[in-house]
Amino acid sequence: KLHNTILELKGNIRVFCRVRPSLPDDGVASEAIVSYPTATESLGRGIDLIQSGQKYPFTFDKVFNHEASQEDVFLEISQLVQSALDGYKVCIFAYGQTGSGKTYTMMGKPDRKGLIPRSLEQIFQASQALTAQGWKYKLQASMLEIYNETIRDLLLPRSSNMDIIRTESGVSGRQYAIKHDADGNTHVSDLTLVDVCSVREISSLLEQASQSRSVGRTQMNEQSSRSHFVFTLRIFGVNEGTEQQVQGVLNLIDLAGSERLSKSGATGDRLKETQSINKSLSALADVIFALAKKEDHIPFRNSKLTYLLQPCLGGDSKTLMFVNISPQPSSSGESLCSLRFAARVN
Ligand code: ADP
Ligand code: MG
Repeated sequence: KLHNTILELKGNIRVFCRVRPSLPDDGVASEAIVSYPTATESLGRGIDLIQSGQKYPFTFDKVFNHEASQEDVFLEISQLVQSALDGYKVCIFAYGQTGSGKTYTMMGKPDRKGLIPRSLEQIFQASQALTAQGWKYKLQASMLEIYNETIRDLLLPRSSNMDIIRTESGVSGRQYAIKHDADGNTHVSDLTLVDVCSVREISSLLEQASQSRSVGRTQMNEQSSRSHFVFTLRIFGVNEGTEQQVQGVLNLIDLAGSERLSKSGATGDRLKETQSINKSLSALADVIFALAKKEDHIPFRNSKLTYLLQPCLGGDSKTLMFVNISPQPSSSGESLCSLRFAARVN
């Protein structure tokens, strides 16, 4: 299939671009900052960004314009999700400035579900369908955030995380040490792992996690997320007839906002946050770039995020990066940065 051919050629790394629609809060759009040279309906491969009368063309594996629905987007990733059930390690990232549609793409709204709930529904349905062929699956979820290079367990009550911070330099408390074993399995000490048996169960965990996420107030967006959110579903399958086993991992990652310093007017804690975010996002780009180029040394250890995801980024794992774009004319500078970032890893 063409889908797989592209996957092979690109060393299992693909980049999808999604432009969100204009919103009432965006103000009146005086000029269009994007156009789509190769689009049919809501889906194409090319996108032109127009800034100060200049046109910057980009090509990605897929480009979704503002008309693409959550269904349209999921249709293009469902095969990748399915491969986690077949034993692959899969990572799907959402990258972009605050307000560009990362959380909408990943989580969505109750009536317009994003790819996290859709993926989980698909995995539950598919795993149930496979019981007829003797397969039994165990699904295990964890949710964490990485804030200023520190891991926080989102499935713990907030107070217990506070204890950890206070005892971090001491001998007690949760350490969240990351270890990878010889089989490519990742263990994060003290991290809550929950066996899940239904979509409803995971939904309530996701609800708990989103309430416990750090949110900061920048001048750009009060609810701006200043941390990377990592949802991990571990999939253990065993066939009772053939004794065949599969182990897959699905990581769904809502990255921290990629905006640069000047725009968010950051000082103090906010400055530290932004520097830490920029550092970890460029570490991610460096890793994906090195993997795509099949370099000998992959700099996984340069950030918590890349080290945590190491087994799921290298080897025969599959990676998809969404680059989310805001159509606001005032965001054209950030949009250009995001497209360049994505073009680099693509
Ligand atoms: P981010 O997570 O990147 O900061 P959000 O996902 O919160 O951005 O999106 C910002 C706003 O735009 C939200 O109100 C969200 O509902 C809306 N939005 C984003 N993408 C879309 C889309 N494709 N269709 C409709 N509304 C969207
Ligand atoms: Mg968000």
